Amino acid sequence: MQKDQNYYISLEDKYGAHNYHPLPVVLEKGEGIYVWDTDGKRYFDFLSAYSAMNQGHCHPKIIKALTDQAQKLTLTSRAFYNSALGEYEKYITNYFGYDKVLPMNSGAEAVETALKLCRKWAYEVKGTSENDAVILFATENFHGRTLGIISASTDPSSKAGFGPYLPGVQVIEYNNLDALETALQNKNVAGFCVEPIQGEAGVVVPDEGYLKKAYELCKANNALFIADEVQTGIGRTGKLLACDHEEVRPDIVILGKALSGGVFPVSAVLADDEIMLTIKPGEHGSTFGGNPLANKVAEAALEVIKDEQLAENAQRLGVIFRDRMEKIDSDLIELVRGKGLLNAVVIKPFGDNKTAYDVCLALRDKGLLAKQTHTHIIRFAPPLVINEEQLHEACDIIQSTIEELSMVASN
Ligand code: PLP
Repeated sequence: MQKDQNYYISLEDKYGAHNYHPLPVVLEKGEGIYVWDTDGKRYFDFLSAYSAMNQGHCHPKIIKALTDQAQKLTLTSRAFYNSALGEYEKYITNYFGYDKVLPMNSGAEAVETALKLCRKWAYEVKGTSENDAVILFATENFHGRTLGIISASTDPSSKAGFGPYLPGVQVIEYNNLDALETALQNKNVAGFCVEPIQGEAGVVVPDEGYLKKAYELCKANNALFIADEVQTGIGRTGKLLACDHEEVRPDIVILGKALSGGVFPVSAVLADDEIMLTIKPGEHGSTFGGNPLANKVAEAALEVIKDEQLAENAQRLGVIFRDRMEKIDSDLIELVRGKGLLNAVVIKPFGDNKTAYDVCLALRDKGLLAKQTHTHIIRFAPPLVINEEQLHEACDIIQSTIEELSMVASN
């Protein structure tokens, strides 16, 4: 007998930790830009698993790489060499233009890796005294959930109740170059870790020129510029990396999410030898990092981005998306912002205490899935394989939903 969605929801509620508050819809299939629920209803996926599905659900080329390699060799650990790692390392370092890559699994692990590299570089190359290194972060950042990372968070829901926190962390205001310049006067500052666009904060785009000037300030003060491109990278914002918009080449690049096309966790840290070779055998690693399956999947996922010109598509369709959103005539919309196909609509509170969550429920009913971030922001980030006609169809759904909710709110 067909089980209804409440069955699956109640199972998760009863047996799973309550660390998420999902939108009530139970998905069981995905293809390209669409997902289907257990009743067979189709939706536009406008979250893309927080930008992990840039290449679309179950991309045939990526799934083929996965299944081919899965029948051959999945894991060796790094105790031995494997025949897929070196070729992948060559491919990804050429692709992004760095000397070396350090492969990990989740985004948070890659961020931790970058922070460790930054500290090691400070002690071994910059000459910082042991245990004195400081790493700068921006307000409203989101870099993951480990204890080290949440030590730099300014979001109480990520941080409160998990102390004590990691020392050697300093938070400065995002998009504020004076704050960065002042902080860099401390010679113990080893680096500045920043999202080129703050995804989880609600797709907060800094002023034009911020990244370039921030990079230059870091260089002038012998500190590393570390770009967390876990959400913004791999075509999402209309360039391969969001830093490319300002022609900034970060000292360390952190990638995750779409690096596997959303197949399973694959992350990476890219840097040149001066930084990467400060970590020696035995000083850092992961059982699964660099596994043959991940190497083949990531190589295929990166090929798809180039072969199908997905960054270019994101750039072109992003302009159309923001234009469509800005033209919606509704009091509910406070602001539209974003780059490429990483966009957000800020919703004014409406009705009796209604928020972006209520808009997401109404969108779901009309066949489009998106998720609010904070109370009043909805992120819209479809797979980059979407075409113009599909984008307009999705915009029609968003427009009619918002117009209908505006009418109800004003009655
Ligand atoms: N960094 C950024 C910018 C992110 O957006 C995220 C996740 O949303 C992470 C790091 C953490 O990645 P993961 O959830 O794979 O650990």
